[in-house]
Parts: sequence; C-alpha cells; structure tokens
Amino acid sequence: MALEIVRSVAEIRSRVNDYKSNGKTVCLVPTMGGLHAGHLSLIAKAKEVADIVVVSIFVNPTQFNNPDDFETYPGDEEKDLESITREGADLVFIPTVNEMYPEGFSTEVKVTAGIDILCDAHRPGHFDGVATVVTKLFLQVGANFACFGEKDYQQLFIIKRLVTDLNIPIIIHPAPTVRENDGLAMSSRNARLNKAERKVAPQLNQAMQLAREKINKGGSISKACEKAKEQLESKDHFKVEYFEVRCGESMVLVDKPSSKCRLFAAAWLGDVRLIDNIKL
Ligand code: AMP
Repeated sequence: MALEIVRSVAEIRSRVNDYKSNGKTVCLVPTMGGLHAGHLSLIAKAKEVADIVVVSIFVNPTQFNNPDDFETYPGDEEKDLESITREGADLVFIPTVNEMYPEGFSTEVKVTAGIDILCDAHRPGHFDGVATVVTKLFLQVGANFACFGEKDYQQLFIIKRLVTDLNIPIIIHPAPTVRENDGLAMSSRNARLNKAERKVAPQLNQAMQLAREKINKGGSISKACEKAKEQLESKDHFKVEYFEVRCGESMVLVDKPSSKCRLFAAAWLGDVRLIDNIKL
C-alpha cells in the first residue's frame, strides 16, 4: 500500500477514525524528521504492536532553546518519506507550524515530575514544549499506541507521566536505543559533527560503559562519575553537562546500584550536544 501523506489535523483525525471504525489498531511514531535507523526501529516496533502505523514529522519550535538549533535542525522531507515508505508505515502526518500553533495559541502542558534535573536543568522550558506538542499529537491523531525511544529517557518518563495524569487513552511502548557500530547513540544532530568530532564522539558511550563496569564491581557511583567527567574533559573535546546515576523509575539520584538504575550523560562536542543513557 502506498504511503499516504496528510498535512491537516482534520484529515489525520478522519483517516485514523476510518481505520479504527474498521476494527484496526493504530500506532503513532512522533519524530522531528532527519530520520535514521533509531527512528526506523520505532516504526518496526509500531508495526508489531498495531495494524496501522502513523509517523509524524514536525520540528516543534517551542521545544528549542536556541533559535540557531531550530533553524539548522537536520531534515530532508523527500529522504524521510523514502525511508518511511521502505519501512512500511501507512500514513505520515506533516503539519505546518501554523496548523499546530494557529494565531492565538496560548496553552501549555507542563509536567512537574522528572524535571529540574538532567536535560531540563540545562534546557529550561524544553520539556514544556515537548509535553505540549506530544499532547496535541496524541489528541489530534487518536492512536491506540505510541512508540518512543529510550535514547531520550527523561522525555519518555515525562510523556508516560502526562498520559497517566491527563487520562489520555494511549499506551506508550518504549524502544531501546539504536547505536552506530562504534557505540555512538544515533541522533539526527550527529549529522552536524565534523569528521574529527565524529571520530571522538563514541568516547562518551565508552566512558559510560567504563563507569558502569566500575560501579558494578562495587566502586563508588560518585567517584566513577567524577572520574569519567574528568577524563572526557581532560582531552579537551567534551564539555560535560551531567554524568550521573538515577533510578529509572523515580528519576531520583542514587548512591547504591540496583537493577532499576540508569547512567545518564550529556556532553557538548563543539556545537553539538550529545545525550545518552544506559542501564547499570
Ligand atoms: P526525534 O526525531 O529526535 O524527536 O526523535 C523521535 C523519536 O525517536 C523519539 O521517541 C526518540 O527517542 C527516538 N529516537 C531518537 N534517536 C533514537 C535512537 N538512537 N534509538 C532509538 N530511538 C531513538
């Protein structure tokens, strides 16, 4: 079946309604385009959980703290549509900024759990933009399920919270982080790394794995994280924003390892901000 491209809220709502009234289940995969194998793994997962897969592409201006980052956000609609077609999704929803935020728009969804830490501490307001646009997408599309990557673990935490708190009838399916062969977590922004930066970028994940090994052998969490930060910064490549271990269920900082713990890290490499997280 050919991929159907929909650009208006009225049309996506009506198409999904048609599918649902014919007894089909629908899964939404929200993206900002610039698609890579991580996004495609979400489409594959969506095909496992539902009959119909809707991919949305919307570079949401309200979640960018830096206007340059928004202006230069990588994306190529034609290429993305080819990837989505190849992966076998059924519908793609590509609204304009005006369709999402018409004149007079003045509502914000703000989740108050799992914030003030990690990315939110460094990108204030970012998750309000995410929570607002994701709530809108859920209400516009009316899918039964949605897939999100664990790569953006704090985002996933916040989205699960808002679905529970606002009683949105959708089930969230998390999917594991897809990596390059050298361990670098895939991200649309990796396209902005220059050759030298791309070469050293996997050191972030390597430092995380080394810290995990030390911690799992009984070493102190704070010492392992401090050492990793020091080593990443000593090479003059990275500027570390955070490198810490938290409970993956409560997002609270921990000083004793358990199976629920995750190691979270974010670091700048030149103008590119890399984030990653792994289970302890
Ligand atoms: P984005 O286009 O960056 O907003 O991401 C759209 C979705 O893809 C989100 O649910 C992300 O968590 C997910 N995603 C991004 N990178 C990866 C990755 N490397 N592996 C798995 N999922 C990812």
